[in-house]
Amino acid sequence: MQEGSFVVFLKNKLQRFKGQTVSRASSKAETDFSAIDFIKIIDLDSFGNLMLFVFNDFFLSIDFGNSGSMLVNKTKKTAADFSLHFPHSEINFYSCETKIHQGKPNDYFQFPNDILNKKFDGELALSKLQQYFAEENIGNALMEKSVFVGMGDLIRTEALYQAKIHPESLIKNIPEKKLIFLIISAVNFADELVEHFKNDEVNSKALIFEKKLCPKDKSEIQIAISTETNGKIYICPKCQKLF
Ligand SMILES: [Zn+2]
Repeated sequence: MQEGSFVVFLKNKLQRFKGQTVSRASSKAETDFSAIDFIKIIDLDSFGNLMLFVFNDFFLSIDFGNSGSMLVNKTKKTAADFSLHFPHSEINFYSCETKIHQGKPNDYFQFPNDILNKKFDGELALSKLQQYFAEENIGNALMEKSVFVGMGDLIRTEALYQAKIHPESLIKNIPEKKLIFLIISAVNFADELVEHFKNDEVNSKALIFEKKLCPKDKSEIQIAISTETNGKIYICPKCQKLF
């Protein structure tokens, strides 16, 4: 799953297209997107790994999945899955899934669950964790879409490391203060990650993700693979406590 921060980074690159009129939308699968032709982009938004182009009566969601990417005024050798054309420019999306929805994004998505959204509600996330996921381990619970949106393996790994919590800890055993610190760490890291994508320094800013040794105590980093999500978590067995 792409980090929500990656989609926010891409969305920020498109701000100049807000208010512009699309000349044509095209898709590799030849799906009919003519509803978008000659209409104005009212707003640009994101929800987790979805980028949202908002028009008057409907909106477009572009799902970046595990490996989606985007190019402005450039193309890859393979055909784009979806493109938005403008009089003097174009936006091309690769390995993405595109859908049109009637109405507004608010009708479909719970923005208070998105760790990158200003409306993110940490208190709500905490109470959901404690109420519905008390018997779950925190590593899996961080990927629960009903609690957190925008969380990928990188944010999850770094937030757990910063909060010094082992991902296999059961939520009911983790002190509330530690859970609050974990949620704050995830939100802060997700925000910083947008800048790291911008400056192309994601790898150098991650402390243990895809690293061999803990920067603090030089312990060997362990890798856990989730059977449910196939996602990877990196763990320092010395720094991160199992509750
Ligand atoms: Zn360590």
